Amino acid sequence: MRFDVISIFPEIFSAYLNESIIKRAIQKDLININIHNLRDYAKNKHKSVDDYPYGGGAGMVMKPEPFFDAVDAICPDKEKRKVIMLSPSGSRFDQTMAMKLSGEKKQIILLCGRYEAVDERVTSILADEEISIGDYILTGGELPALVIIDAVTRLIPGVLGDEHSIEEESFSWGILDYPHYTRPPVFRGYKVPEVLLSGNHKDIQRWRRKEALRRTITRRPDLLVSRKEISNEDHELLKEIKEEELK
Ligand code: SAM
Repeated sequence: MRFDVISIFPEIFSAYLNESIIKRAIQKDLININIHNLRDYAKNKHKSVDDYPYGGGAGMVMKPEPFFDAVDAICPDKEKRKVIMLSPSGSRFDQTMAMKLSGEKKQIILLCGRYEAVDERVTSILADEEISIGDYILTGGELPALVIIDAVTRLIPGVLGDEHSIEEESFSWGILDYPHYTRPPVFRGYKVPEVLLSGNHKDIQRWRRKEALRRTITRRPDLLVSRKEISNEDHELLKEIKEEELK
């Protein structure tokens, strides 16, 4: 899978991409990431990529030409590229979107905005998709680009070692993750739940599922509401949780 990122701050990326899982994914050739400086595509003498907004108002707007030229230089064939504009107005990024992108055959080109805004023609004509990483405003699209690269990369087969299980993580079951513990069994008087020390695999599985459901219903009930089907086992566990809460 190939990612291309277009930004006016290309130096931001190297520290994050050269560590841990992403670094290994690059070394194993499972992903290829290219960072491009938008200013290289600015035609004017001062390499400026922004201008005053038509209609007046505060802040500067990023010009369309450098983005269009950069994307065309990186991948001229529209059929082979998927251009994503990072923007607070985009569809909210989530695990389902990450899964879809991890199966993407096209080259993914991420456009990072800065300043007050990006000329609307970049978003509506050049970009195939507009993605937001959440309902807050960041100073630029660089962190959102890294968030997407990270979330998508770890879903690519072969990226995570055996020690990680994608299936058991939050959102993969459509619910949150269960609580995890490691040694010591008692820390400052706080004990690890007995069942986890029992060695009874079936009981452990049931406990984990129940605690994942408990977390979800307490912290993110919207995730359960949006699920199409709830299994009989989950119904049973949810009933038990409700009864326990009433005690
Ligand atoms: N004036 C814009 C608005 O109200 O939507 C915010 C511009 S923001 C300061 C500059 C750039 O940061 C945006 O063009 C976008 O690329 C990026 N950005 C900021 N917050 C973001 C978010 N939540 N998700 C994705 N990109 C974001």
